[in-house]
Amino acid sequence: MINRLAIIGVGLIGGSLALALKGKGAVNEVVGYSRSEDARQQALDLGIIDTAADSLAEAVSGADLVFVAVPMGAMNSVFEGIADYLSPEAIITDGGSAKAQVVAAAKQCLGEKFKKFVPGHPIAGTEKSGPSAAFPTLYEKHRIVLTPVSETDSAATAKVKAMWQLTGADVFEMNVEHHDTVLAATSHLPHVLAFNLVGMLAERNDCDEVLRYAAGGFRDFSRIASSDAVMWRDICLGNQDAILSLLEQYHQGIKQIEEAIRNQDGEYLIDVFSRAKKARDSRFADPNLIDNSEM
Ligand code: NAP
Repeated sequence: MINRLAIIGVGLIGGSLALALKGKGAVNEVVGYSRSEDARQQALDLGIIDTAADSLAEAVSGADLVFVAVPMGAMNSVFEGIADYLSPEAIITDGGSAKAQVVAAAKQCLGEKFKKFVPGHPIAGTEKSGPSAAFPTLYEKHRIVLTPVSETDSAATAKVKAMWQLTGADVFEMNVEHHDTVLAATSHLPHVLAFNLVGMLAERNDCDEVLRYAAGGFRDFSRIASSDAVMWRDICLGNQDAILSLLEQYHQGIKQIEEAIRNQDGEYLIDVFSRAKKARDSRFADPNLIDNSEM
């Protein structure tokens, strides 16, 4: 049972955790802090939080569990702002989508309390954001990845794991680098591709006409281009190396496809497309593998 849960960033990810834990009766009080008065008021009105704090210090004082769910670019300033006000026994965790950058920021800002910081990433989400996007079943049957480091207190990891399990999620542990490489491939790269494709089409003079004829495939693929621009800017900058390395591979693949189309090399296209189809049909047979993506 959590006595006082502090949610820093009461949007989709933070708000959904609060609603899930409240729904299970697993928390006595939820205190929330977001930058804007508007977000705090919405979170209160929607029953996501019981109390809105006016500052980071007020939000975390007396909290036994602190969940940081702000865009990655704001993690550093949040850690700086809470470090001096955390109770000695408080456990801190986060929901940031790339872990190396968050771990480095926490290490630099939290000092002694870094050992009570359990890095985490819910592999769940939608393209919507803000308190109104939050819902209590977001994490049910979804994967949560925790990436504890050598300094992380194992009791703190166990407590965070138990908290996520209460939401109906499956919790896994991974090392930070592996997490960032895997998520770059399955989530970060597809978002970059979707933003680029939709942005490219949007610049055409006949964009409205083109989109009028968009079929289901385009709708599926382009949905993630509705995601929050600030959040995805921060993820791209925060997981730079892994994303750049995948983009390089992607460019090579696209160049080869381009060559094949230019040369009327149908055999090459059949080879690439059928290998991709086979991989998707067999490896993604479990619909959860797809639902688990943060898209
Ligand atoms: P969101 O819905 O936009 O919520 C973020 C919240 O953080 C907003 O309420 C925002 O409040 C607040 N905030 C922004 N800057 C802040 C600051 N400096 N101090 C305090 N509060 C601040 O975003 P989200 O989708 O929940 O994402 C939160 C985190 O989860 C991100 O790190 C993201 O990478 C990660 N994540 C997202 C998804 C997804 O699918 N969306 C999935 C997994 C993980 P204001 O409106 O007042 O600024």
